[in-house]
Amino acid sequence: MSVIYTGKTKNIGVIGYPIQHSLSPVIQNTVLQNMDLDYAYIAMPVKKGQLGNAVTGLKALNFTGFNVTIPHKINIIPYLDYIDDAAKLIGAVNTVVIKDNKMYGYNTDHEGFINALSTINFSVKNKIAAVLGAGGAARAVIYSLLKAGVKKLYIGVRNREKAQKTICDFSALGEIHVYNWLDNNFTKFLSKIDLLVNTTPLGMYPYIEEMPPVDFNQIASRTVIYDIIYTPEKTKFLLEAEKNHNIILNGEYMLAGQGAAALQKWTGSHNIDIDLMRIALHKALLEKI
Ligand code: NAP
Repeated sequence: MSVIYTGKTKNIGVIGYPIQHSLSPVIQNTVLQNMDLDYAYIAMPVKKGQLGNAVTGLKALNFTGFNVTIPHKINIIPYLDYIDDAAKLIGAVNTVVIKDNKMYGYNTDHEGFINALSTINFSVKNKIAAVLGAGGAARAVIYSLLKAGVKKLYIGVRNREKAQKTICDFSALGEIHVYNWLDNNFTKFLSKIDLLVNTTPLGMYPYIEEMPPVDFNQIASRTVIYDIIYTPEKTKFLLEAEKNHNIILNGEYMLAGQGAAALQKWTGSHNIDIDLMRIALHKALLEKI
């Protein structure tokens, strides 16, 4: 499908560095064209020291908004006129809307994460969950699980002291406990959980032989196993889970879901086709490897 951009076309995109490997232009433009929405989404390399200039430029160029990725997800915050509560608590912004020369910041990773679970008809309400890792992505995951009404949340990490701040930040939202993931108590809890989420990069391409230290002999087959990594499609963690007859979910839906939520904010459309975005992402990932 060829697209003609005109003087009426609205501009959106993503800033980050490096940015040439971003799949956002592919997934966003696929959906924009399919929905006949007159927007153009481009990837813009913005180095660390250039964020202020880039923000001024995007406003001057009358951009509708933009995604923010590494290394700017935290540093963008001082430039915003408004930040929504979720993004504030998560401490990172991945989506900015520009309106009347003002910048509004959001985090759509948490929406992408939780919405993905509906694809397997899993509701976290009153369930017990465990999250492995407590880094940037884990903050969005923890926020969305607690907001969605999880009964108890266990966090397993390699460095308990380092993760303590994360736990303090979210403790007002619900019951949350942090353990070293080799602690016997943590491994005991794993046998009782309904959902186990990996948010560490262990197993991500090219280190596909790695996985977090989880003994699947201890995990009930009813437990849903979710790895937010999307390359490879099935990490070693998910392959082990499959052998244990668990339902599995990878990070593709989360990535597509955060993109769809961002597109909804820029266009105001509530009919963004997440499935189309996920299929475009899947195809782009296969072509990339
Ligand atoms: P991050 O901020 O660097 O956090 C990584 C977490 O994993 C930290 O808790 C870190 O522990 C732990 N970790 C890292 N390497 C480890 C190792 N070798 N052994 C044990 N623990 C280790 O990274 P992030 O931004 O959260 O990203 C994490 C993963 O999520 C990546 O694979 C990324 O691709 C994926 N992700 C997916 C989506 C999606 O939409 N599907 C979105 C965002 C991120 P320490 O604090 O002790 O270092």
